[in-house]
Amino acid sequence: MSVAHLLITGGAGFIGSHTCLVLLEAGHSLVVLDNFANSSPESLRRVAELVGANAAARLQVVEGDIRCSTDLDRAFAAGSIEAVVHFAGLKAVGESVAEPLRYWDVNVAGSRCLLAAMVAHHCRTLVFSSSATLYGYPEQVPIQETAPIQPINPYGHTKAAVERMLQDVAASEAGWRIASLRYFNPVGAHPSGHIGEDPSGIPNNLFPFITQVAVGRRERLQVFGGDWPTPDGSGVRDYIHVMDLAEGHLAALQVLLNGGDQLLTLNLGSGRGHSVLEVIAAFQEASGRAIPHDVVARRAGDAAETVADPSLAAELLGWRTTRGLAEMCRDGWAWQQANPNGYAS
Ligand code: NAD
Ligand code: UDP
Repeated sequence: MSVAHLLITGGAGFIGSHTCLVLLEAGHSLVVLDNFANSSPESLRRVAELVGANAAARLQVVEGDIRCSTDLDRAFAAGSIEAVVHFAGLKAVGESVAEPLRYWDVNVAGSRCLLAAMVAHHCRTLVFSSSATLYGYPEQVPIQETAPIQPINPYGHTKAAVERMLQDVAASEAGWRIASLRYFNPVGAHPSGHIGEDPSGIPNNLFPFITQVAVGRRERLQVFGGDWPTPDGSGVRDYIHVMDLAEGHLAALQVLLNGGDQLLTLNLGSGRGHSVLEVIAAFQEASGRAIPHDVVARRAGDAAETVADPSLAAELLGWRTTRGLAEMCRDGWAWQQANPNGYAS
């Protein structure tokens, strides 16, 4: 496998930090550009510790904003960048409803700035963090990439807009190699428990909420809806171990770097759905802790079931998930237990 100089935007975040670890272990050299709006430099310090001094020498960190061309120029100048993995962005659905302009600014205008800098620095290979959220209420499950794009919140609209922008850019001139990866529900942590998900404030997502109940930071979990048309009445999602997701990025990069012009749009999920009640049971089993919970009304904007059809990624990347729900819970618990207050612990 060839090794490359990569720019990783948002590399200090949850998915970015795990992907940096996998990319360093594969021999790549990284420049991380992050403004630490939703992360801390501590995650990358721990990545460096985990990979060891030799590999850590291939990691540079530039503090800066993807919306700032000077910051982008500094990041590109830090290494002769051959490809970009673009994680930087805002991701909270509720916040995007309250502050849509901020979401359009960071996610869409930020991506536009990044693309302009890529053109200026003659780099045309990009992996973009898209999301299954752009399928909205899916008409069919499992969801194929050809399913209609019908986001139901501003966050989803920004992801759809960036995908559209990437299609336009790829069609504008030869040389572009782009993969838009539509993540399903990333959870878990590196098995060491040294890096993991560290949401600020009260978690919106199920998995970090459960881990915080288990460690005693929150009292009870609310299960949003017990009357969904699913086997046990709670919502069903396709949870993907963050290490599987990180390996999906490595696979996508390899395909892009070894191939010609292309624009790939791929689901990254396991293809298996688990209900909220199943996740609670698995987490209780993995942690030995009770997760007190109450079934309450449905949350506005939720779908009953979203599960990926991951067969296109398997075919084109030779990648599929290998870690199941028990490992997601075991590793997520190891992280939360060792770091009850996240990176501030
Ligand atoms: P995260 O918030 O942990 O990581 C995002 C990183 O981007 C953070 O380190 C943050 O500081 C940085 N950042 C934010 N704005 C920036 C800016 N203007 N300039 C530079 N850096 C900036 O989120 P994550 O869960 O790791 O998600 C990474 C990407 O994957 C995001 O684009 C997100 O929308 C997408 N995604 C996440 C999920 C999920 O459930 N976590 C699902 C689908 C898609
Ligand atoms: N959920 C829940 N309680 C919570 C958070 C989430 O019951 O405190 C449910 C939610 O209704 C959905 C599933 O857990 O069925 C996953 O929700 P999450 O917000 O993690 O992901 P998304 O809805 O974006 O797929």
